[in-house]
Amino acid sequence: MKKYLFIDRDGTLVKEPYDYQVDKLSKVRLVEGVIPSLLKLKEADFTFIMVSNQDGLGTDSFPLKKFTKVHEFILELFASQGIYFEEILICPHKPQDNCSCRKPKLGLVEAYLNDHTWDREHSYFIGDRETDLQMAHNMGIGAFQIKDESSWSETAQSLTAKKERVARVSRHTKETQIDLLVNLDRSGDNHFDTGLGFFNHMLDQIATHANIHLEVKVTGDLEVDCHHTIEDTALALGQALKEALGDKRGICRFGFCLPMDEVYAKVFEDKLNQDGVEVSLDISGRPYHVLKLENLTLKANFTDDKVGQMPVQMVGHFFSSLATTMGLSLYMEVSEGNCHHQVEALFKAFGRALRQALKVEGNTLPSSKGTL
Ligand SMILES: [Mg+2]
Ligand SMILES: [Zn+2]
Repeated sequence: MKKYLFIDRDGTLVKEPYDYQVDKLSKVRLVEGVIPSLLKLKEADFTFIMVSNQDGLGTDSFPLKKFTKVHEFILELFASQGIYFEEILICPHKPQDNCSCRKPKLGLVEAYLNDHTWDREHSYFIGDRETDLQMAHNMGIGAFQIKDESSWSETAQSLTAKKERVARVSRHTKETQIDLLVNLDRSGDNHFDTGLGFFNHMLDQIATHANIHLEVKVTGDLEVDCHHTIEDTALALGQALKEALGDKRGICRFGFCLPMDEVYAKVFEDKLNQDGVEVSLDISGRPYHVLKLENLTLKANFTDDKVGQMPVQMVGHFFSSLATTMGLSLYMEVSEGNCHHQVEALFKAFGRALRQALKVEGNTLPSSKGTL
């Protein structure tokens, strides 16, 4: 959806002279910071529309010819720097004319108001006067006011600031109460409190190696066993990762991790694509126990039944649950060795692969289908 910036001219793009009429070339002065700010905003995919009141334009006191010469000069100046206005909307009336197009009245932008294909939530009015702010309000969009020499750079800064990818998930059932926070754009300061020491340690492997911030608090029915605690945490974590990714714009999407540690773990993930290609590459030729679930292929011969309080059966269950709620195709493989290390290597390798897949490297959707 198109994002518009409706921009006032005098006092906003060019300085307003003492007599309020920019009718001579010698009166043209740009407002501080306007060029670099508009370039930044253009880069951020905003489309510019100029909306200006020119009191009494076309009358003897402000002939059209004088206006046009200066106006074209201003437009050329901006165009020479790569800044274009898709439309230029001008009210030529005086207040006493009582027209329907003088800002903050809506006449000039009527076509936009009747068009429902643009992104109102991320479109704004930028102007120097109260009437510009009133105009934004009447249009039902946000506003930025140009008041001083730092206004433009502050406006551009706040309209282009990257929002952190954060999600908070609370999942409370009879069996488990889970509160989980994930921030894909921070790292460290992680907290894990699941009641299972080894599982805390494994979640820490994911967070540390994915380079994300993760807080997990779980009160589960451990008096029964650890099944629900691990399964539900995985479901909540997958959901949180998916939510934090938002529209997934710009992410790498794929991740993989090759041999690491003294046991050898491989992880391939085709992120966020439930019916995606399965990346399966098995060059080992060794006999493996293969667990094949909807979103997960796990090749592992665990050398013990349990690590800490965690049965190794739960490893596949954890990753398939996470893959399901996150929308992930996952291929994992681990060599034989110390069982603690086997499990740990899988969580670490998953974290490493996740780190790659989550990374933002542009601003387009990483799919030829146009959707993920
Ligand atoms: Mg103005
Ligand atoms: Zn008018």
